[in-house]
Amino acid sequence: MGDSFILTGGKVLDVDAGILRDGVEVLVEDGRITGVAGGRIERDGARRIDLVGRTLMPGLIDAHVHVIATLVDLAKNAELPSSLVALRARKIMAEMLGRGFTTLRDLAGADLGLKMAVDEGLIEGPRLVICGKALSQTVGHCDYRGRNDRRPLHDGSLGSLGRIADGVDPVRRAAREEIKAGADFIKIMANGGVASPNDPIHVLQYSREEIRAIVEEAENYGLYVSAHTYTDASIRRAVECGVHSLEHCNLIGADTACLAAEKGAIACPTLVAYEGLALEGAAFGLSADSQAKIETVRSAGIESLAVMRDAGLPMAFGSDLLGQLHKYQSMEFKIRARILSPREIIHSATRVSAKLCRMEDEIGVIAEGAHADFVVVNGDPLVDISLLAEPDRGIAAVIKGGKFFKDELGSVVA
Ligand code: ZN
Ligand code: ZN
Repeated sequence: MGDSFILTGGKVLDVDAGILRDGVEVLVEDGRITGVAGGRIERDGARRIDLVGRTLMPGLIDAHVHVIATLVDLAKNAELPSSLVALRARKIMAEMLGRGFTTLRDLAGADLGLKMAVDEGLIEGPRLVICGKALSQTVGHCDYRGRNDRRPLHDGSLGSLGRIADGVDPVRRAAREEIKAGADFIKIMANGGVASPNDPIHVLQYSREEIRAIVEEAENYGLYVSAHTYTDASIRRAVECGVHSLEHCNLIGADTACLAAEKGAIACPTLVAYEGLALEGAAFGLSADSQAKIETVRSAGIESLAVMRDAGLPMAFGSDLLGQLHKYQSMEFKIRARILSPREIIHSATRVSAKLCRMEDEIGVIAEGAHADFVVVNGDPLVDISLLAEPDRGIAAVIKGGKFFKDELGSVVA
């Protein structure tokens, strides 16, 4: 039997209604929520934990991270020993948990071993939803080779985010291999990117035939495809080919956003990635070519939030930071607040992100049967989103699976 306790005295944030509820008690047993009641819960042996003056909300979900990206320079990262990358990833994950993120969707690199290590309790970290290696074409967003480097890419090391596969049959095989290795979804690079050397932002990557083949392989296994995509043309093509999860979307137009919404796709903006790279990317080894690409997507990214909201395209919450820039993760809340309401942002970081994890009833919600993942906030995040953006000040406790990973409550009642 695991720990059992009752969370009482605080306000409980209903992320669907976007309101705080008074007088609600939450019972946690064996890592799950086993009771939510608008009155006193009695349970023998359960401690009562007083949250007076604070807000209880579901644990946050970051739906776009790279926990094995331990360096901004991804080519160098791929050359690090896998054991070192795993141990650094452990630290990156523990820090994310401390910021209130109890689940992460990793968008390239994290493998089944890291996921199992978390689930076994071997390392302290958020739950992981993984895609294994991202699929990239030659001269795509995961091809970090210099122009004159014709050596084949070896993609076995943990520090490499992607693998190269070209042609319909090879991409089918690559997708199947990632599924076999434990992928929860398949990630493809469908557009140019900032951190890779030879692909300007606007270039389309993969043919329609290749994308459709990957989508078919994923769907055959009951999974979906996620695509790295910035430009309107790239996003439209991805949607038309059946891609479900649209990463970044900085340059999306209204018509494409409406089409994506109609098709049931979900976007995952990652705006802090560009702020982080603009602030310190150069200092951590981002090449001059890559630095020049940042502005192409940075300011448009802010505008894209309004375009997608107005089109009714659901947005998950992503950060997409690399290496030394992970410390900026929670700044995503503040950047989004320039356009979106705290309620909308919190809904993204809970309900919408849970959908992309395919764990809708299990995470991102305070309901019976869900994992006991919570953040206890020192105030009302629906009024002041900076409480989540500045977790050292704003977050008093982080609970994952009924276990406290941060506890500054000092309020256990017998
Ligand atoms: Zn990307
Ligand atoms: Zn990414």
